[in-house]
Amino acid sequence: MSEAGDVIRETACAPPDRRESRMHTERPAWLAEWCPVWCSGDHGGQELPDDRRHQSTAAWWTELVQRRQVLPSGEVSRVVEPTEMAVIAVQQVGEAQPWVAVTTDVDLLELTPEGARRLHAELGSLLDRLEEGRRGLPTMSYRNEGNHP
Ligand SMILES: [Zn+2]
Repeated sequence: MSEAGDVIRETACAPPDRRESRMHTERPAWLAEWCPVWCSGDHGGQELPDDRRHQSTAAWWTELVQRRQVLPSGEVSRVVEPTEMAVIAVQQVGEAQPWVAVTTDVDLLELTPEGARRLHAELGSLLDRLEEGRRGLPTMSYRNEGNHP
């Protein structure tokens, strides 16, 4: 079984200098549509229909990630470890819109561009509130989304 990040990693890292030649010499016969401008154009090795996708170049970096796991005893285990991650655009060949993927070696979260924009805004808002808390500024507002009493 392939890990989430491996599937994306296999086709994401095409050297930029191969882009021009790929357009003329490595374009597979099954690829009957133009690549989106953000696609790395590396479609070699996508012989299986489920593997055929446009994908942006991935810039992998390492972050500390906390994972929680419920043990058979019911106890919650928390593990913090360095984890490679990347944010890329993916679009199955023939699909109408791209997805924005946040991926690690074991996790994959794919959002619509609108969902990714919302996530970006929510992260910015949350990080601003955390920064205000670190600087000791009083909280100016309380957001109640209706999920809490
Ligand atoms: Zn492409």
